[in-house]
Amino acid sequence: MLQSGPARRAEELRRELNYHNHRYYTLDSPVITDGQYDLLLRELQDIEAEYPELLTADSPTQRVGGEPSSAFVSVEHSRPMLSLGNAFNFDELAAWHKRISGLLDGADFDMVCELKIDGLAVNLTYENAVLVQGATRGNGTTGEDVTRNLRTIRTIPLSLAGAVPPRLEVRGEVYLPVKEFQRLNREREERGEPLYANPRNTGAGTIRQLDPKVTAARNMQIWVYSLNSTEGTDFLKGHWEALEWLGNAGFRINPKNRLCHSLDEVQNYYQKWLGRRHDLPYETDGVVVKVSPLDMQERLGIVGREPRWAIAYKFPAERATTRLLRIGVNVGRTGSLNPYAVLEPVVVSGAKVKHASLHNEEDIRRKDIRVGDMVVIERAGDVIPQVVGPVADHRTGEEVEFRMPERCPECGTLVVKAEDDAMHRCPNLSCPAQFFELLKHFVSKGAADIDGLGERWCGILIEKGMVSDVAGLYCLEKDKLLELDRMGDKLATKIMSNIEASKNRPLPRMLFALGITHVGAEVAELLARNYLSVKELSQAPEEDLTAIDGIGPKIAASIAAWFQTPANQSVVEKLLDAGVRLEQDALPVTAAASPSDDAPFGGLTFVVTGTLSALSRSAAEAQIKGLGGKVTSSVTKKTRYVVVGESPGAKAATAQKLGIPILDEAAFLNLLESPATNPPGAQPQPGGLV
Ligand code: NAD
Repeated sequence: MLQSGPARRAEELRRELNYHNHRYYTLDSPVITDGQYDLLLRELQDIEAEYPELLTADSPTQRVGGEPSSAFVSVEHSRPMLSLGNAFNFDELAAWHKRISGLLDGADFDMVCELKIDGLAVNLTYENAVLVQGATRGNGTTGEDVTRNLRTIRTIPLSLAGAVPPRLEVRGEVYLPVKEFQRLNREREERGEPLYANPRNTGAGTIRQLDPKVTAARNMQIWVYSLNSTEGTDFLKGHWEALEWLGNAGFRINPKNRLCHSLDEVQNYYQKWLGRRHDLPYETDGVVVKVSPLDMQERLGIVGREPRWAIAYKFPAERATTRLLRIGVNVGRTGSLNPYAVLEPVVVSGAKVKHASLHNEEDIRRKDIRVGDMVVIERAGDVIPQVVGPVADHRTGEEVEFRMPERCPECGTLVVKAEDDAMHRCPNLSCPAQFFELLKHFVSKGAADIDGLGERWCGILIEKGMVSDVAGLYCLEKDKLLELDRMGDKLATKIMSNIEASKNRPLPRMLFALGITHVGAEVAELLARNYLSVKELSQAPEEDLTAIDGIGPKIAASIAAWFQTPANQSVVEKLLDAGVRLEQDALPVTAAASPSDDAPFGGLTFVVTGTLSALSRSAAEAQIKGLGGKVTSSVTKKTRYVVVGESPGAKAATAQKLGIPILDEAAFLNLLESPATNPPGAQPQPGGLV
């Protein structure tokens, strides 16, 4: 059946919004700005309001957030964690106020104004004043158990002082402070890694990953914004009093919160923070206005995915219009041709913008951006400016459509474009742009760290034909370096000794240094936890790679393709011949090879069976070996523990028959975390036995 205009548009919008929800909530990696997202959502809401028959139960207007990730244990919320309705201007705020006043029979009520923190909502549960669980919002009814990560945040109390009810639930926003975000990006820039897009998604990604050490290292913070349980706190009559009480109980409550008695006061608060939002050490995207009396909140209730008693009064997106002078193209170290906009300089929220990212040709076409257009620029998350789209009304007819060059702007090789790849790429591995970028990356701090060999010298070595692949660095001779213009003895000595030292860099850094597409520092860490050497990794089948948590098919395919390329195989051989140690550090290897009784798992034999959710089987085995244990494939009387994941098969049954302790994943992770508290011979926790 042919669909009418609004029906077709509604479906299009639903598809598009679902895609962006997945990118934002599940992958923590949005591709459009929040302002653009809000416009799409508003358009769908308007269509559904005008044509109620088009409203579907699974519409993004009816659902909260994204599906919880299977990497975490699921948590059912005692009460749903909701979204918020939006007001984009004062009229919309006043309309909300009028609507709820009507529902409350014209009664007067106070409102609490809070800054809307751009972070990740969490629910914290305390039992007998001790933090027992922290969960994300997930899809509103089911979230993810991220307790281990949240425990590392210093401003989340692990226990509460004073008299509190036996069970207490609070909600708040966990966020990455702007300074901390900038520090992370500075470090990434130094290491030549792609920059994080904004504090919100970086912060959410920090909580929704499996290593608490990563969270601990990032100085995350929390503002608690509501009490979610009622038992034992029914003496609290208003949200304002509840916040005060929570503050006294030890929670971090934002001192910028205000109790307002009228809409004018709300508007003043909004105006004040609209002007000062960039002075705050965290990002906010508006003001949350909440009806304070709790009995009124109860009466107003919830409609769909939003409480009626609260609204997000959003700050306007930070945009400006300027002319697109030309589209430039860079060649990245993986050969991608990256288009970027060269703009007539324009100030957007206090910063001068001259360039903006344009992602790829497909994106430029989809947005119909032409050279010469007046374009709208938005600063998303205050970092990478984006071209939202053209102002078509301003067109004169002189504008020119963009075409990706057919040949690489650096080496002239014909460009290729695979169907499943959004990027055009230069396939020439010795393309100077690629090699220059790769060499800079290889010698950089987080990689092989060859201090002294800066960008300029990389360029000169390539130009003089002294290196044509990264292995060439290890054939350099000091005498030859000294022949270069302006190379002194001191610098040449430094470079040579740093090249020598780089032969012993840790495996993850060398894996990162190789410049394999999609293998950034974090992926390299994951790989190094699973493989003992580059050689071992080079032989790993793709399906083994995808079995590693955090490595998807795209990364696995890229790694496999890299190792299958003869030029890369030869670089690895040459590096090894030159004495570059492309393998795990000595410590775990020795521990694994000769288990000593002093090591925490010394003398213990493990069998791992079934699928584990938090780490792959090979990662589990590597961890056991790292702690001095032995891993075998069959269960015998000598087996000390059998670690059982999902669908374990016959080994678990054999273990039971032989009376060998079986550890489920949680018990195993506990044992890994504190092996010393489970000395050899001790029985595992009864709760961990299956
Ligand atoms: P929301 O904006 O509707 O508001 C609800 C959330 O606000 C809560 O879950 C909580 O996390 C947060 N919050 C912050 N401070 C608060 C306070 N003081 N009191 C109460 N809540 C507070 O959140 P949502 O449902 O996640 O809505 C969508 C938001 O995410 C919009 O800003 C939207 O633009 C953005 N988004 C963007 C994309 C994208 O692709 N760019 C995709 C999906 C969503």
